[in-house]
Amino acid sequence: MKTSRKFCPQPHPLVSAIPAFSDNYIWLIRAPGSDWAAVVDPGDAAPVEAALERAQLRLAAILLTHHHGDHVGGVERLRTLGQPKVFGPRGEAIDGIDQRCVEGDTIVVPGLDLELSVIDVPGHTRGHIAYVAKRLGEDPRPLLFCGDTLFAAGCGRLFEGTPEQMLASLGKLMALAPDTLVYCAHEYTLSNLRFAVAVEPDSGEVGARLAEVREMRELGEATVPSTIGVELGTNPFLRSHLPSVRRAAAGLLGHDPAGNAEAFAAIRDWKNVFR
Ligand code: ZN
Ligand code: FE
Repeated sequence: MKTSRKFCPQPHPLVSAIPAFSDNYIWLIRAPGSDWAAVVDPGDAAPVEAALERAQLRLAAILLTHHHGDHVGGVERLRTLGQPKVFGPRGEAIDGIDQRCVEGDTIVVPGLDLELSVIDVPGHTRGHIAYVAKRLGEDPRPLLFCGDTLFAAGCGRLFEGTPEQMLASLGKLMALAPDTLVYCAHEYTLSNLRFAVAVEPDSGEVGARLAEVREMRELGEATVPSTIGVELGTNPFLRSHLPSVRRAAAGLLGHDPAGNAEAFAAIRDWKNVFR
C-alpha cells in the first residue's frame, strides 16, 4: 500500500488508473464483490482491454464526460466487448451513447451497484458533464469524475466556453464535500503546481504540495486523485476570489480585476503561455 501523503489521499480501493497516451488516466471502477467494471473516458481501447483481461473483469458500462478524442476514442471498439451501456453528455455530438445525461439526472451503472448524479460543467467544452457518487462499497468518501474540467491544481482550457461559464462550473464542484475524491483525466499536477506557485508565491500550502508532488512524480506515482478540500486550498482556479490571487491578476491586468470572472480569466490566460 502506498504511503499516506498530505495532499494525495489514499485512493479509493475500487477505482484504479489505466494510463493512456502520454498523460491520460482512464478510470476503472470495480463493483464491490463481483467481476463487473466500468470505465470513464476511454480514449484508447487497447489499454482498457488489457486491464480487463489482467483483472478478469467484464465491462458493464462506459462513462463519457466530453467529446474530445482522447476521452472517447476507444468507445467504438469497447462497445463490441459484451455490449456495455454507454453514458455521455446530452449536449455533445458523440457516437454510440445509449443514455444521454444532463444535470439533475441520477443514473444507475448496471452491474456495479453505483448511483451517480450528473452535473453540467461547461467551459472546456460546451456540453461537458461530471459524475458524482455519494459512495461506492465500504469506503465512505464521495467520488467525482470530472474529465477535463477540474484538474489537480488546475483546470481545463477554455476551448468552447467563457471564463464565466467555467467559473460557474468550478463553483458547483467547490460546493461538493471536502473529502470528495477528485478523479480528473490527466496527470498534469506537477506543471499545474509550478504555475500555482507563480500565482501564489507566498502560500506555504501550495509550496508544500509542489514539493510532495515533485517527489511522487520522481517515484513514478500518480498524483490523482486529490480531494475537493486540497483543491480549495491550493488550486489557483478555485481561488480567484481571494486577495492573493486577485493580486496576481492585478499584476497581469495592470488594474484591479472588477470581479471573480476577470481575475479568473487573467489567470487562465497566463497559464496558457506559462512555461
Ligand atoms: Zn478534453
Ligand atoms: Fe483530455
